[in-house]
Amino acid sequence: MAGLLEHPGQTPARRSEIANAQRPLAAVLSCADSRTSPEIVFDVGLGDIFAVRVAGNVVDHLVLESLDFAVNNLKTTLLIVMGHRRCGAVQAAIEAHDNPDVEIGPMLRELRTSVVAAKSMTGDLFENVMRQNVIRVARRLAAENRFAPLISVGKLIIVGAAYDLDTGIVTVIDRT
Ligand SMILES: [Zn+2]
Repeated sequence: MAGLLEHPGQTPARRSEIANAQRPLAAVLSCADSRTSPEIVFDVGLGDIFAVRVAGNVVDHLVLESLDFAVNNLKTTLLIVMGHRRCGAVQAAIEAHDNPDVEIGPMLRELRTSVVAAKSMTGDLFENVMRQNVIRVARRLAAENRFAPLISVGKLIIVGAAYDLDTGIVTVIDRT
């Protein structure tokens, strides 16, 4: 595996083909980090991924509404929550936990639960927080009324994944 990218679906012809309607293969909730663009990570093109990006790949009502559109309007059957190694948001959440004087906003508040959970685990703290956050977000989505019935009849799969910046490999860490 050479890890070379093919950059499919990025031609004017593809642009025209999907200009009037989109049928993305997957909805991906990933971090805003400039190194984790899902279209490049998965080597796909225009119209292939319904991307929702926010630092720390956490969920709020706006993120939820966007993902709902992908699943219930565009009929996307795969939803991926993708965290990544060397995530600045995860690192900031760990540092904020250790320093109570740091003022934290909604994003770090969302990550705090995962930091608290990871503190009682063995192994690498950063890795555990990143994974805990992905699993927590994926399961929270799976429990939503707008998604749960689809999951139970096999019309939606929610996957939690971790992207490695160094190798380019995406590892599945959770699945509904
Ligand atoms: Zn990140």
